[in-house]
Amino acid sequence: MRTTTYCYPWDLARLGVARALGEIAGHGIQAIDLAANYHPIDALSPRGGVNLFSDARGAVYFPARAGRYGRIKPLIHSPEIAGAWSLAAEEAARIGLGLNSWTITLFQPWIRDAHPDCARVLPWGDSSGSGVCAANPDVRTYIVELCADLADQFGIDLFRLEGVLPHTFDLDWLRPRALVRISALARTLSNLCFCGSCKARGKAAGIDVSALQARVVRTIEAEIVGEPNSDERAAALALDADLMAFAESHARASIELVGEVAARVGHAARVSANAITPYRSLLGDARDDALLTGFITAGTQVDLNVLNPAGNRLVAALNAAVESPRPLSALYVTIRNPTVTSAAQVAESGVDKMLQNLQATADVGVRELSLYNYGLLPDADVRVFMEAVGQLRLD
Ligand SMILES: [Zn+2]
Repeated sequence: MRTTTYCYPWDLARLGVARALGEIAGHGIQAIDLAANYHPIDALSPRGGVNLFSDARGAVYFPARAGRYGRIKPLIHSPEIAGAWSLAAEEAARIGLGLNSWTITLFQPWIRDAHPDCARVLPWGDSSGSGVCAANPDVRTYIVELCADLADQFGIDLFRLEGVLPHTFDLDWLRPRALVRISALARTLSNLCFCGSCKARGKAAGIDVSALQARVVRTIEAEIVGEPNSDERAAALALDADLMAFAESHARASIELVGEVAARVGHAARVSANAITPYRSLLGDARDDALLTGFITAGTQVDLNVLNPAGNRLVAALNAAVESPRPLSALYVTIRNPTVTSAAQVAESGVDKMLQNLQATADVGVRELSLYNYGLLPDADVRVFMEAVGQLRLD
């Protein structure tokens, strides 16, 4: 089993690049997934004393070369951290550690602040505060160029694209104030994007987008403000061909983005992303399976999550059915990480279940495990993870 670890360039900058990478290699880990850019974060590190890194709107953390980009220019956080990225690339090559670019795609509030027309737009017309839309051509140009810039400067082994498919409408709301019940149906419909690019795609496909948007908003309002009656409303929506086509188009925009990145840098590096779609309950299993398959074949590797065994089995089965099945990789998040927030995730990630969870992941064909995340964990946790990996049975 190959192992990698996610890590932050700010941790490497603070701890010393050579020392940190030496420790990672010393654990037997074979590659780093180094954040090239990032979303808003408050990250507490127990390494080198206690340290908090805070960034409210996200930024770019490598020395991106602004001249080669289009309208969206990279917002570089600081020369110190960007410099650590370059040093890490050099040091990784020197000691034989693989270098993966952990690349955030759509969850980039700083882009949405600088270019409001790139924002996701919620069905009722307000812009998302969290991110941008994959259907926007400037967003695509930016992300593809970001990857090409990294590939040209550093010789990347793998582009691990995070959050390519449409994220939920309320992702990372700031101190959210939503005191009403939002039914599953209302949530699913709220994930639709009505930005200028999505509307143009819908119109080009022959959809009366204004009428569709009005129907979607009426249903969301009826579910939230009126009496929830999801079953009846969902049955009516299942007959709405324009709605199905519009939702599918939103997911396909993300698949196209993965394909564009692979077309640009795929000759030199693997390209992977998470296989999760937001409209399964709306589209039905068959149509959603087709989207997942499109997603699998757009890149050259697929990233799973150890804590999502049912999703992993589905994606592994779909992957096995494509002409050239892609290698499967999986993220492992420990119980102490604050990104594990739901009770189900905590129950699944208990240390006593660690080996069982990792074995289940290996059993669906995963041959690369990625520990989240070096700077956030004490060394003892890294050792426990590596010991568990060493005990896995690989048939
Ligand atoms: Zn959109």
